[in-house]
Amino acid sequence: MRKKVVIVGGGIIGLCCAYYLNEEGHEVVVIDKSNIQSGASFVNAGYLVPSHIIPLAAPGMINQGIRYMFNTSSAFYMKPRMEPDFLKWAWYFKKSSTAAKVKKAIPVIKDINLLSKELYFAIKASGDLGDFHLEKQGLLMVYQTTKYEEAEAKTAERVRAFGLEVRHLDSEAIKALQPDRELHALGAYHYLCDAHTTPGEFMNGMTAFLSKAGVQIHRNETVKSFTVLNNRITGIVTDKGNFDTDEVILAAGSWSAGLAKKLAVPLPLQAGKGYCIDIEESTGIRMPTLLCEAKIAVTPMSGCTRFAGTMEFSGINSTIRRERVAAIIKGVEQYYKGFRIPEQYRERAKYGLRPVSPDGLPYIGRVSTLKNLLLATGHAMMGWSLGPVTGKLISELVSEKKLSLDISPFHPERKF
Ligand SMILES: Cc1cc2nc3c(=O)[nH]c(=O)nc-3n(C[C@H](O)[C@H](O)[C@H](O)COP(=O)(O)OP(=O)(O)OC[C@H]3O[C@@H](n4cnc5c(N)ncnc54)[C@H](O)[C@@H]3O)c2cc1C
Repeated sequence: MRKKVVIVGGGIIGLCCAYYLNEEGHEVVVIDKSNIQSGASFVNAGYLVPSHIIPLAAPGMINQGIRYMFNTSSAFYMKPRMEPDFLKWAWYFKKSSTAAKVKKAIPVIKDINLLSKELYFAIKASGDLGDFHLEKQGLLMVYQTTKYEEAEAKTAERVRAFGLEVRHLDSEAIKALQPDRELHALGAYHYLCDAHTTPGEFMNGMTAFLSKAGVQIHRNETVKSFTVLNNRITGIVTDKGNFDTDEVILAAGSWSAGLAKKLAVPLPLQAGKGYCIDIEESTGIRMPTLLCEAKIAVTPMSGCTRFAGTMEFSGINSTIRRERVAAIIKGVEQYYKGFRIPEQYRERAKYGLRPVSPDGLPYIGRVSTLKNLLLATGHAMMGWSLGPVTGKLISELVSEKKLSLDISPFHPERKF
């Protein structure tokens, strides 16, 4: 049955929902408060990471957060706040950070990531978005210290045990992969299962395709509230007008919790800010590389090399903390031999807010209190990787089709 579906949010998640819902023949409307040119879905590192099977909420992370609470230039930062929503989220995060929960999450994260990567390649093969950048060179995890060598060796072993291909590289082998820009490195693990993209190019290709395909995209329009009758959302109220609807997809990234609250739906979610610096000139960097000690992601993209990093829990705000950007620059310059980030690019750092659930797993599915609300948010550090699979699953739910995978671990009302 053809339904009218309104999607709140035009980030990677909202647009991928629109893509698959449109393919199923539904009437689709996307509403976004921005002009769909900024935010997490534009500034991310563009990695598709089946290798990242260990969620953020892992043993030791809370202690790290407490240690770094007063260090405003650390890669991981939690601003101390007495806000009830933040305190509740932090409590759930702590409860999720156990070895047993991480063990349970690993196969779930692996399967959903592998399916999403396949879907990226299927979108590319369809030609719908033209010939966008999607490369399968894998991801290098480069380390400089023996402490990280040990930790990375353990992670690599864990990933290998799940059937993913990882190989160890010494500094000579790293040089052979990237001869034009040498690294100060003790060694690296090369995750051959990963791929990378250029986010802005994909996002612009997607909006252009959707508009041509008949999806209505309302930019610069903010969803303010909802009308509800008999446990069903009957209308969506924006600053410019009203929309009626059969189904509502809440894909508003870090703002989803605030909107869910208007519908009396509890949604533990915090914004995790990250920054990126793009260099639009030759850098000699060929390989997507995670600089382990500095926690910086480096990606060769179409038209630039991107350096991205930091996870800052300081609420929803648009402050660019210069000390954090400086830490990214310093980190990069400590890894790449003789490399300096030119002055003009330092001033142009951009930020995005990752929507972070307490256990690092997304919220995908319906809620029990409203018959026509579906959540598609909370993807934290994997939202770029998981865009297509989330869109496909949401479209299968709306179309009442068999699901491509078990979504019970992503239930929006799961217990933490
Ligand atoms: C620095 C950085 C690096 C990252 N690297 C990677 C990576 O390499 N791989 C990976 O998988 N993930 C990565 N991520 C995470 C990933 O980018 C996010 O998880 C993902 O972009 C979230 O997408 P989203 O669509 O849920 O949210 P968003 O992109 O934030 O989109 C939500 C949209 O909702 C709109 N909206 C909000 N409120 C309203 C309202 N009231 N009315 C209308 N519209 C509204 C917003 O304007 C926004 O456009 C990274 C993130 C950052 C910040």
